[in-house]
Order: sequence, then C-alpha cells, then structure tokens
Amino acid sequence: MSLESFFSPKSVSVVGASRHKGKVGHEILASLLAGGYPGEVFPVNPKVEEVLGLKCYPDLVSIGKPPELVVIVVPAEFVEAVIRECGKVGSKSVVIITAGFKETGERGRALEEAVVKAARANGIKIIGPNCLGVMSPGDKLNASFGGDLPRVGGIAYLSQSGALMTAILDMAAARDIGFSLLLSIGNKADVDELEIIKALGQRPGTKVIAGYLESIQDGDAFVRQAEIISQNKPILLMKSGGTGAGARAASSHTGSLAGSETAYEVIFDRAGIIRCDSIKTQFDYAQAFADQPIPKGPNVAVLTNAGGPGIMTADAIERSGLTFAALTDETKSALSKVLPPAANIHNPVDVLGDALADRYEAAMNIVLDDPNVHSVVVLLTPQAMTQCSETARIVVKVAGAKPGKTVLACFMGGRKVEEAIHILRRGAIPQYDSPESAVATLKAMQQYTRWLARPERVVRLFPVNRRKVEQIIGRHLRRGEREIGEMASKEILEAYGFVTPKGSLATTAEQAAAIADQLGYPVVLKIWSPDIIHKSDVGGVKVGINSAKQVMDAFDLMMYRIPKKMPNAEIMGVLVQEMCSAGKEVILGMHRDPRFGPLLMFGMGGITVEVLKDVAFYLAPITASEAKEMLIRTKTYSLLKGVRGDPGVDIDAVAEGLQRLSQLVTEFPEIKEMDINPFIVGPQGSTPIAVDARISVEKTD
Ligand code: ADP
Ligand code: MG
Repeated sequence: MSLESFFSPKSVSVVGASRHKGKVGHEILASLLAGGYPGEVFPVNPKVEEVLGLKCYPDLVSIGKPPELVVIVVPAEFVEAVIRECGKVGSKSVVIITAGFKETGERGRALEEAVVKAARANGIKIIGPNCLGVMSPGDKLNASFGGDLPRVGGIAYLSQSGALMTAILDMAAARDIGFSLLLSIGNKADVDELEIIKALGQRPGTKVIAGYLESIQDGDAFVRQAEIISQNKPILLMKSGGTGAGARAASSHTGSLAGSETAYEVIFDRAGIIRCDSIKTQFDYAQAFADQPIPKGPNVAVLTNAGGPGIMTADAIERSGLTFAALTDETKSALSKVLPPAANIHNPVDVLGDALADRYEAAMNIVLDDPNVHSVVVLLTPQAMTQCSETARIVVKVAGAKPGKTVLACFMGGRKVEEAIHILRRGAIPQYDSPESAVATLKAMQQYTRWLARPERVVRLFPVNRRKVEQIIGRHLRRGEREIGEMASKEILEAYGFVTPKGSLATTAEQAAAIADQLGYPVVLKIWSPDIIHKSDVGGVKVGINSAKQVMDAFDLMMYRIPKKMPNAEIMGVLVQEMCSAGKEVILGMHRDPRFGPLLMFGMGGITVEVLKDVAFYLAPITASEAKEMLIRTKTYSLLKGVRGDPGVDIDAVAEGLQRLSQLVTEFPEIKEMDINPFIVGPQGSTPIAVDARISVEKTD
C-alpha cells in the first residue's frame, strides 16, 4: 500500500477536534483550514456540534463515508478504539498525534502494541504516535501542529523529533526554503523511515530527501533501499544518539535504542547517504541539491568584487580537496575585454569594488562558458556603488540561462544584502553566509558525484578451505567455547590464505630449545594460555631470541613470573615461533554489529591502535577498491606508502588481506569479533604475516 493517502488525501478527519484554542485538537484543525486545504474536512468530537465553522460529527461512522486520512488527537487510552472505528468505516491511513505511548514506559508500550495490532488487523497504516503530523505544501495539506505551511519546494523532510521539526520550519521560513513534504514520524510504531524513504524515492516532487533520525530499525534493509534511492535523489541525514551520552538521551526521548556510531558511518558511506552534523549544514546542502545541478567535476571558479573574500574562498577550496579552476586563455582574453585593466582575470576573478550588476553579468557569462569550470561561487560585498539586488537578479538570470553548472552565492553582509539574498533564494540560487559554508556544500556535492560514479561492486572470491574452518568453529561451539585460541585461530587464517609464522608448542625448556634449533634463529617465545588475551601485558612475549640457551632462560623466566601475575590462568606451555623480518605492524579486524552486520576495520597495529584511534571501518563484503579506500582513509596511509626514503609497504597485499578477512567473516556469521594484530607487512612483493589473532564465535540462529 502506498503512502499517498498520507500526502495528498481527498478528505481528512480530525478525531478529537476541539473548540479550545491552544489545544492540539484545535490547532490541527485550524492549521488545516489556514493552509487552504481544498478537500473535505470532518471534525469528530461527540461533545460538540460545530468547530471552527465546520459541522462536528460524534464519531467516524456518522460521517457516512470514509475519510481518506484520519488524524487522531484523543488521549492514548482511547486511540485503539478509534483505530477499530477506522477499520469499520474503511479509512486506511491514520496519523496518531497523541503522545503517552512507548516513550513513557511499560504501560505506554502495551497501549502502543494494542494500537498496532488493531491497525494491522484492519489493514490500516499508522504514522506516529507521538508525532507532530504531516505537511504537504503542494497539496495545501497541513495536518500538523508545527506551524504555518512552508513554501513548495524540492526537499522532503522526515524527523523523528517533532520539536526539531518546528525549529526547522521556523528556520526554513527565514531562509525561503521550500518543501515537498514534512513528516514527523514520532515513535514509528508502524510506518518507519524505511517505508518513508521508499515512498519519497518515488515521489516526483521530491528532489532531495533530508531527515533527522535517532535510530534505524532495520539497518540492512535501510542500506539496500537507500543505496537504490541515492542513485536518483540525494539523501541527507542527521543522526543523533552516537556518543554514549547521546544514545542514553535518545532512549529516554523516543524510547528507542540507537545503534553504534561507527555502524552508521559505515552504512552511510555504502549507501551514498550524506551525513550532516547540524541543521545548518543540512539545509546548506539540501538547498544546493534541490536547486542546483550537481557539479560534473571538482573545478571551482570564484567571482568577486573584493580581494579578501576571494582569497578566503580560494583557501577553503584548497583545504577541502576541491580544485581551484584554471581558466582557459580564451576565458582570460574575453574577461580582459569586458573588465577594467585593474581587474583580476585569473581565478578568483575580481570584478573590482566599483562593479555594477552589468560587470558581474559579463564576467559570469564568460566564466560559466569555460569548459574547465564545473561550479562557480559568486561573492559580493556591499561597497559604496554595489547594486546588491540588481546583481542578485543578474545572478539568477545568468545561472538560469546556462544550466548544467553549479552556481552558489555568498553575498556577505547583513541589512544591505537582505533583499538581494531573498531574490537569490527565490531564484533558486543557494546563498551562504560564509565562503566556507559554500565550499563545504560544493564538497558534499562533489562527494555525491563521486559516489554516483563509483565502480560497480564486484567482490573477489578467493579459493579457500571452508570445511576446515567449519570444523574448527563447530568444535568450539559444541564445547561451548567462545574464544578460539591462538593456534586454532591461525589454522582458520591459513585456511583463508593468510600466512602465519611457523612454530609449535613446548612444555619444557629443552623442548622449546629443540623447536627453536629446528626453526632457526631468531625466534619468538609466547606464553600459551587460554586465559591470557594480551600476552605482552604479562611479559608473555619475548622477541629476538638468538640461541638455545636464551630460549631456555626465557622459558624458565616466563614459567616463573607469569603464574605469579596471573595465579588463576591455566598455562599450557610456550609457543616457539619464527621471528618475522621487520615490517610495519597493522591491524585487520572485524566487529559484527547486531543491526548492520560485519564491520571491517583497518588501522596501524600494536598498542598505538587504541591510543591513536587512526582506523577505518567498512561494511563487509568489500571490493578491492573499497579495501584500498579503507587504507587511504587513515592518516597512517602516508606512512604505509613510504615517506622520506622509506620504501613503504605492499599496499595491495594489505588490501588483499582485508578482502580475505571480508570473505571469512561473510561466510561465517558465527564469528562475532576478530583481530589480526599485528599483521606485519613488508615492502612491495613481500608476503604479509598474520602474527597474532583472536577470534570469538557465537551460535547463530
Ligand atoms: P599480544 O598481542 O598478545 O601481546 P603478540 O603475539 O601480538 O602478543 O605479540 C606482541 C608483539 O610482539 C607484536 O605486536 C610484535 O611486535 C611482536 N611479535 C610477536 N610475534 C612476533 C613474530 N613472530 N615476529 C616478529 N615480531 C613478533
Ligand atoms: Mg597482538
């Protein structure tokens, strides 16, 4: 069933309509009428005969026909009965404004469950409860108590917080932002973000989907759907509840638990979702996506009547990783013909402080025609002769006449540019309060362009020994063991094509020396105990041992010291291992998020990983280019590539390690968590070694 009855219904009933100003049941009806809703409106309230000049019905049945949309504002304990009545008359779409459900605790949760059950039994869809309602400016539908209907525009907004929506509406009014829809989704008892973005993806009037979410119900399905929609419409999301404190606030707020921050970042990446960290940035971006074409490339030209702001913009472009466009000779010569000799005909093009609108017009036309230019930022400062409003009109006109390139404006100032800014925004030219905001917006657009052009996802499959891993994991699970020790972990890794250091276990010093002699020196000794996770923390790793004598000494020392430090640890012996030649230590890992699945991690290994937190995550299964992208995202990437004479490491070998890990955790959902730390990588052409590994497993259902 589509959601169109929520967005453009032919008739609306407000159940719980009230004559008392200030009551929600009154405000909703008043909003509906004030917005000029052209369809039929049926107030329902058994205690009154007339509200706001409309005949009031005692119940839905008395209306005599089913309202297409029913808005419920009666107290929580009566809602279920109204839903049954909707079922009786045949109304299928219901917005429940009423609060006092899941968000208030157990009793509310039970009420909400009963409401949903009644709705499902009658084939009814619910938005809410505990929400602000629905606004569809194009249909003149304001079934909410959020305020006046905004202008019609290309942005659809969905918000899990009703209060935030009122702030957005107020800001939108001040900034002339238009909407195709505004939805407050409240507790998401029935219709959730997934169903809504699906519907918005298909709505012709919606060019951009923006939203504020505290949680995402079905992570996996959401990613898949968002990935499809992002192909045609950008999705801009603010997501809260990420930090520990935020997550607690979210759970008391709407009664939903937020997923972990990392998981969201990872899935947003995959699905092309543009993450915004404030309402301001969200609308900075949304306006540009709604009103301007996305840039075809990274080259930005700047047009200005003042040197300083031009340089500020140039700096912001450099910092953001966008390209400062190099203008062609034809452009420069054309500019020199229309601009005074003192003007700068290179990017940033300076039309000078005495420029009138006509000079902007001439220069803008020329710059937009330059094939090296993908987007233009038009700057203006209100100097003595500046024609602010006239220039704004010119910018709107020229940009309109040359579609295909992105034009953003930054008219700086306050009162003197107020009218001009209004003209720009009404003319579909996004206007920014600073060059940095304009450039950040271009950057977000460019990232989206890149996402659209991403290569097709082809996941490489390596020939592996799957059965072997099945056996090892099965054995552990049958015994109820959740941690797979170092030896068995290495067998698993080897089955998936990783190389691990040679070595075996010794229970006496003599045996250890014999193994070392066989391996050849130097060797490494490591304590072997299922109860010791971080061996070096307890003095359980000794590297660079060069003789049988040293082996025996090290063995005795470990056997003497470690039981003192860890009296309860069961010590099985010592692992004698060949010593890998020097290389860089990186970590490859995986954490399985309960909602979104296996999150792969890459970072610099050893103890620094916890301190520096210089890691990158990606959702498995990954492609070769995504694996490489994970490396590139870390700051340590430049170290891996090599700096100042250091040859660097075999990047592709690390990326292959990540892909093998990706395959392992994709094929074995029993693996909940794992680390390969360190994964020692050497120069080009060398084989990386998985020196240490931890795997924990869990039964899957
Ligand atoms: P744990 O992480 O439990 O302390 P590891 O096996 O990871 O134990 O060893 C700790 C550190 O010792 C590694 O990060 C690495 O620097 C070094 N190391 C361990 N084994 C080897 C080896 N076979 N070759 C070279 N270095 C090693
Ligand atoms: Mg380790």
